[in-house]
This record gives sequence, structure tokens and C-alpha cells, in this order.
Amino acid sequence: MGLKVHSYESLGTYDGPGIRLVVFLQGCPFRCLYCANPDTISFEGGTDTAAQEIVRRALNEKPFFGKRGGVTFSGGEPTAQAKDLIPIVKDLKSNGINVCIDTNGGIWNSDVEGLLGLADLTLLDIKEFNGTRHREITGRDNTVTLRTAQWLEENGKPFWLRYVLVPGLSDFEEDIRALGEHFKDYRMIQRVEILPYHTLGKHKYETLGWEYLLKDTPLNTPEQLARARAIFDGYFSCVMVN
Ligand code: SF4
Repeated sequence: MGLKVHSYESLGTYDGPGIRLVVFLQGCPFRCLYCANPDTISFEGGTDTAAQEIVRRALNEKPFFGKRGGVTFSGGEPTAQAKDLIPIVKDLKSNGINVCIDTNGGIWNSDVEGLLGLADLTLLDIKEFNGTRHREITGRDNTVTLRTAQWLEENGKPFWLRYVLVPGLSDFEEDIRALGEHFKDYRMIQRVEILPYHTLGKHKYETLGWEYLLKDTPLNTPEQLARARAIFDGYFSCVMVN
């Protein structure tokens, strides 16, 4: 079985610990208004890629991974291809390669459970804690994402909680405080990453013929980031702005 791959990034330092090969998979059930990779959303497209090809690439790059690096499966939404990912992740791990799954947590089934059970680390994006605002941002409810977090906690699976801070969309103090209250006692959260909103993927919308709906949304000011960080710091000891 193969995977639908959108693209690769070698020597990535942004998606998980250390230096990593990032494999962006095609297809995502969310429709985030700020998605930086809108060309990965459609389940059509991508390149059918044999499992051996991914393992071969990873082994080629293994000398650069060092002690902490490895492979991150991102997207798109990698759990949409959980069934095909499982044997690849097993192969990578049997070769001593660390594996992260970068997920929105919005898909749950026995394959996803198997996949997250195998991963060394999950990077769990929580787009908003408030369900209504989550739906406005992504088009989907956040119930499954919150349950995924709970599963990781209950099963002793370490994860990073990632939060994209978008002015006017996900920077509400009451929502961040509610998130903090909900997660503050989770022992499996190794890091909370605040990701500033950026518009680097904006040009891709034009190419796709899609309207970029956040054209009037400003970038975060340093003060906004500092204020959000201070709120998160009130609940977690492992906050960083990435
Ligand atoms: S979950 Fe990620 S890939 Fe999917 S639409 Fe949102 S930002 Fe894009």
C-alpha cells in the first residue's frame, strides 16, 4: 500500500524536535481559514508513493537527525491515511527513527488509535477551545480533537499542544483561559507552542482560484503575542512562541 504525498521538506526544524524530514500528506477534512497549505486540503491529487520510498528517504537523511530529530508526518491531515501509515511508522521505528504525527485530532477510528499509539510524539493542533469559534475557523466541531487529547493523556502518549493565534479569530482571553483550565493538569503535554498567524500561504489561494477570506486580518503585534503567552504561562510551564 502507498501513501498520497503532497511534498517533502528536508532538514525541517519547525515540526517537532530536532532536525526532521517532514512528509506532507494530501487531504484534510478541515477547512481552516488561514491554512498555509491549502493545496494539501483536497483528497484528490498528491503522488501515490510506495512505503519503501518514504523509508528510503528517511534512511538517507538519518545521519542529519541527531539524537532528537526524525520524521514528521504532516499535511493535510496524516491521520486520514492512518491505515497506510502504520506499517511505515513501524518500519521507521524498527530502524531507530523517531516519528511525530502532526494532526488536527479531528479523525478518530481504530487505525488512528493504532497510529498515535506508535508515534513517539503527537503535535496536536487545537484551533480554538470554544466549539462555535472552532467551527467558524475550521468548518468542523472540536469534540473529536478534545477527545484525542484525552486519549493521549490517558494512554501516556506525550504530545505538544499547538495553538495558532489569529487576531480576532482565536485570541480571545476567555477561550485561552478555558483551554488552560481544561488542560492544565495534563501530564502528557510536553510543550505548548503558540504559533503566530502568518500569511505565507496566501498566494496559493490565488493559484487555486480560492478567495483568501482573512485578507483584512492583521498579523499579531508583539504585544498581542506577549499577552497571549502570559495567559498560557498562567496554566503551563512549557510555553513557547514558535
Ligand atoms: S487542519 Fe491543517 S491542513 Fe487542514 S485545513 Fe487546517 S491548517 Fe490546513
